[in-house]
Amino acid sequence: MGSAKSVKIGGLVFGGGAPVRVESMLKTPLEDADGCLAELGGLAEAGCELVRVAFPREELRGNLSELTQKSPIPVMADIHFNYRYALAALDCGCGSVRINPGNMGGRDGLMEVLSAAKSLSAVIRIGSNGGSLSAKQLESSGDDRALALVKAVEEQLIPLVDAGFEDVIISAKSSSVPETVRANALLAQRYPFPLHVGITEAGPGVDGAVKSAVGLGVLLSQGIGDTMRVSLTGESKAEVDTAYAIQRALGLRQRGVELISCPCCGRRRIDVPELVVKVKSLLPEGLPDGTTIAVMGCEVNGPKEAAAADLGIAGTAKGFVLFKKGKTVATGGEDDLEEILASFLEGQ
Ligand code: SF4
Repeated sequence: MGSAKSVKIGGLVFGGGAPVRVESMLKTPLEDADGCLAELGGLAEAGCELVRVAFPREELRGNLSELTQKSPIPVMADIHFNYRYALAALDCGCGSVRINPGNMGGRDGLMEVLSAAKSLSAVIRIGSNGGSLSAKQLESSGDDRALALVKAVEEQLIPLVDAGFEDVIISAKSSSVPETVRANALLAQRYPFPLHVGITEAGPGVDGAVKSAVGLGVLLSQGIGDTMRVSLTGESKAEVDTAYAIQRALGLRQRGVELISCPCCGRRRIDVPELVVKVKSLLPEGLPDGTTIAVMGCEVNGPKEAAAADLGIAGTAKGFVLFKKGKTVATGGEDDLEEILASFLEGQ
């Protein structure tokens, strides 16, 4: 579903029913140009489609130019408090900038940014954040934080739309799942622009991934959200992997192989966690996106429970069975496991 309108950044369509894009933000400071390029390369390889980078000082424009020239994916500069930085970022080849129109040095500064963006066909992302809601926004929303987030987006959006600039992506983020969900549902009802969705400051590891999956899962399952970032404390690549895992779970996009495995119970015949690690290490490059490989603890329930898998392995009293779409295709003892599995995976 997605937004009614779409925008293009570096030739890639956002919104208008395009696949939900996966974004991340560089954690390396722009001062470290080589580090930024290395992080960006890893993100692109993992499937990141738009990378945001903080651009806090005009003196870093050389590094930003190098990044935009060498990046295999579009770059969005994140700007605060100075419209000149936005102009510099556009000049450095960024296909998009994230700004707060309220702190771009008044109407004249904002108009300069809009005019530069228009002439370069660049996209502007605006949006609100739960952490920066003002007392006035909260008060005028009756202390309803979701409404205040919407109001804050509207305050930023109206000057752009009034100036005839509509190549925008909007966002309303909070570290609260219910707030973020309601704010984005309201925005999707009211505006046709592509929505960037995410739970901000979601946290580290499992907690961060779960919080993001719950919030983004609710939104994306209703067709709300056109581009997503999973904000995690930790490696940026984990943000991209988690974003694809969320989309895979919702049946929206498949990237790479989906490994499913049973939780184990008293019927298990093999060490499932150990086998998962082994199977992962045996997966050849280039398996089609969406290939499903199952690792199940027993042959009694395993093949049935994972009947949809393209290839599955289940433990037996004597070793294992390999099955395809629930049907046994090979059996073996523990010693031949690696060889048989590798030959089947090669043929996938
Ligand atoms: S596949 Fe077998 S071992 Fe795994 S959870 Fe199901 S019944 Fe238990």
